[in-house]
Amino acid sequence: MSIHEDKPSKNRAQRTLSTVLKAVAVIAFLFVVQMVIRNGLPDMSIYVQEKWQGIRLLQAPLPTENSLPNPLPERRLVDTWGAARSNGRTHEGIDIFAPRGTPIQSTTDGIVRKVGENTLGGRVVSIVGPGGSGHYYAHLENYADIAVGDWVDAGEVIGYVGDSGNAKGTPPHLHYGIYINGSAVNPYPLLQKEAPTER
Ligand SMILES: [Zn+2]
Repeated sequence: MSIHEDKPSKNRAQRTLSTVLKAVAVIAFLFVVQMVIRNGLPDMSIYVQEKWQGIRLLQAPLPTENSLPNPLPERRLVDTWGAARSNGRTHEGIDIFAPRGTPIQSTTDGIVRKVGENTLGGRVVSIVGPGGSGHYYAHLENYADIAVGDWVDAGEVIGYVGDSGNAKGTPPHLHYGIYINGSAVNPYPLLQKEAPTER
């Protein structure tokens, strides 16, 4: 069974309308092409570059023993992992003491995942590093000029030592935590110790 539809023959008004619509479509297309050439392509290359950087980061090897620089260069490292904390918690990180306002340096290349506050950590910065490892910096006095999604290089300043969160009133220190596959691991063995000569 077939259906025949007789197309009405176009009159002059319809042909004119059709020509105008085609012209509008062509102009709109050229306009879009021009906008892409002017603005789109550079953004596109940055986008591709960022994606590539992110993929390489996730494929990079996880931190190994003595591989990470001290986030507070010159400050003494003490293994405070596992110490008892309130409400039956244990300490899932390392505390590094330093004067208020001491700049905190990222231990790894990475992408900023959080710049904000929580109850225990106070002002915190969280960074996704090599192999997808999570790096958590807490009790900050203040943040450096970073935002979620920013790329940071190892050694870049991400914030400043303080006593925010549940550290309020204690000597200012950085709480530094490392998370691998979602579980906290002891940062102490992974950090380089050869830094400070005792004074
Ligand atoms: Zn701590």
